[in-house]
Amino acid sequence: MLKKDGHSHTEFCPHGSGDDVELMIQKAIKFGFEEYSITEHAPLPPNFRQDYEGSADGIDEAALALSDLPAYFKKCQQMQAKYRDQIRINIGFELDFLPSQLTWTREFWREYGPKTTDNVLSIHFLKGKNNHYWCVDNTPAEFKTGLLENAVDDAQRLYGQYIDALITAVGTDLGVNAPHRLGHLTLIKKFQDYFALPSRFDQNNMRKIYQLFSLLRQRHFEIDLNTAGLFKPYCNEIYPYPELARLADTEGIPLVYGSDAHSVSAVGRAYHEVEQFLN
Ligand code: ZN
Ligand code: FE
Repeated sequence: MLKKDGHSHTEFCPHGSGDDVELMIQKAIKFGFEEYSITEHAPLPPNFRQDYEGSADGIDEAALALSDLPAYFKKCQQMQAKYRDQIRINIGFELDFLPSQLTWTREFWREYGPKTTDNVLSIHFLKGKNNHYWCVDNTPAEFKTGLLENAVDDAQRLYGQYIDALITAVGTDLGVNAPHRLGHLTLIKKFQDYFALPSRFDQNNMRKIYQLFSLLRQRHFEIDLNTAGLFKPYCNEIYPYPELARLADTEGIPLVYGSDAHSVSAVGRAYHEVEQFLN
């Protein structure tokens, strides 16, 4: 099996460490990775601001600026060429699925999709209070105000809403070279230990998960086996959690390791913990 990291970030990420992607690649090579996908957060649609509520940094620091795209591609292409003999580097994006901004997203993708070779589709924003989109993963306070209170203290209901949004995302055609890997599918549990939320989906949500998995299979999607959650102070588990990863494996959905590294120190993290799920 090819050793691959399918989800990583760069110095272009406004909420990252600023670590140079070259140092991250050098570490991946040292760790024996044969394939490495650079998947920076794709720029958000400018009009998404109208749909969004929450702290300014939640939207301002979420993704690449449109003006950084040329520099991003240039740097990634330089890395690809420089390390060609040591590692296969993919250039791509972690694309946000925003149902209210599909026209912009499709136009963006029409232009940039063809320049990419591997991508991740993620949901970081969910509709909550005031019918606005709120950050799923920015701060516990925002999560509570925007999403948890709206779910009337029923975390399973919120989980269900997230899974429904994933189902819509996977079922939507975004165009040429559209992402075919679903990012951190239990990100909605990032603050589970802060609010003592249930760590496992209930029966009703598991029905939704089966529905999601069958759609993933049908649409030839992979799952991002993302170890970042293990190191989030209030999450403390991988995305998706181990039973779901096992189930996905049983259901024949390919799982691809994703460090989701935003720094050199996170490259290759917990790879051995999840090796058992990779085939
Ligand atoms: Zn990020
Ligand atoms: Fe993400």
